[in-house]
Amino acid sequence: MASFPTIGILGGGQLGKMMAAEAVRMSVNVRLLSPKDAGPMQFYAGAESGDWTDPDVLRNFGADCDVITVESEWAPAAEAAAALSSDTDVWPSPNTLDVIKDKGVQKQHLADADCPVPAFECCETVEEAIRVADDFGYPVVLKQYRGAYDGYGNATVHSKDELREAWPDLAADDGLMVEVFAEFTRELAVQVARRPGGEQVVYPVAYTEQKNHRCHAVEVPAAVDEAVAEKARAIAQRSVDAVNGVGLVAVELFEMPDGRVLVNELAPRPHNTGHYSIEGCYTSQFENHVRAILDWPLGSTALRTPTAVMVNVLGERENTPAQADTLPDALAVEGVSPHIYGKPDVRPGRKMGHVTALGSDREDVRARAERAADAIHL
Ligand code: ATP
Ligand code: MG
Repeated sequence: MASFPTIGILGGGQLGKMMAAEAVRMSVNVRLLSPKDAGPMQFYAGAESGDWTDPDVLRNFGADCDVITVESEWAPAAEAAAALSSDTDVWPSPNTLDVIKDKGVQKQHLADADCPVPAFECCETVEEAIRVADDFGYPVVLKQYRGAYDGYGNATVHSKDELREAWPDLAADDGLMVEVFAEFTRELAVQVARRPGGEQVVYPVAYTEQKNHRCHAVEVPAAVDEAVAEKARAIAQRSVDAVNGVGLVAVELFEMPDGRVLVNELAPRPHNTGHYSIEGCYTSQFENHVRAILDWPLGSTALRTPTAVMVNVLGERENTPAQADTLPDALAVEGVSPHIYGKPDVRPGRKMGHVTALGSDREDVRARAERAADAIHL
């Protein structure tokens, strides 16, 4: 065995790349496996592509790894666990991923653990959904159980007719989840890192601002009452315990006008809403993910500065390779850290990178992050 451990990351996108960067900094060896090549992972020598549904490919990949992790809940963790000897840990566990990757199972699991969630029902048929929606009152949110991201797979419907119309396009054989529309004050997110034995650290509460159903900006700490922040952090920690999460788990929350905090959903991995922590916190979400899966002591989640703001950089062009020509304009903005993921194909609206700014004055920090993100055209 190498004197430093080896982690194997299933996935070759920006989350895998940012995990790898933190691991490499500590001389933890990294291998990455992805079904497609030339993604953000291309920068690492230990990156390979192959058919990750093939047990032989997984066995080969995992043979030298001490622990396997995933950058996405859709990566074949269970297949990797089955292909490898029990000496190789897989974190998060396939069990945790099974609970999280079906929104209906996840919500029920959270509700059973007394984590507050918006009222919901899993409905097999459109008639059942209409009965439930009548009961909840419109609007309601229809959610696909599996495979959704960036709001694709959800529909907010305002009437029985809209529900009937939306159903066939969204529903799977087992139907859809019908959820009360939460009239939230703000959307919040809290990252939690948890070791296999259950020891946890929790990050500050982040305010997440959406545009067109996508996260546009994250401000930390969220400008919420201390009581709301305490509640958000406690609920996030309870939710992560409830799913036995190991590694970094991100918890998306709704702050309600009456002071309640509800869980929207969990992501069993580092998350866009935690990218601010790379520069903003003593230990980033990616470093704590690496520490947690290796069962190493977790690092401080405290902010290094009074405020951190992250703004996403979305693709603008269609099917062109990303060009670096506008990056210097962002670098010219004082005190910002641009991140470009290195995705080979640009698509309008696709997350291509982000910018983080730090400082004391929230408005100034926000303005700098926006200015730098705005300067980058991909
Ligand atoms: P993402 O990949 O962006 O996290 P997703 O496709 O998994 O998203 P959700 O997180 O379920 O979808 O929903 C996306 C957004 O839709 C939420 O961030 C929130 O703005 C809105 N939303 C979801 N559920 C509700 C709800 N019950 N009431 C009001 N708004 C909601
Ligand atoms: Mg979400």
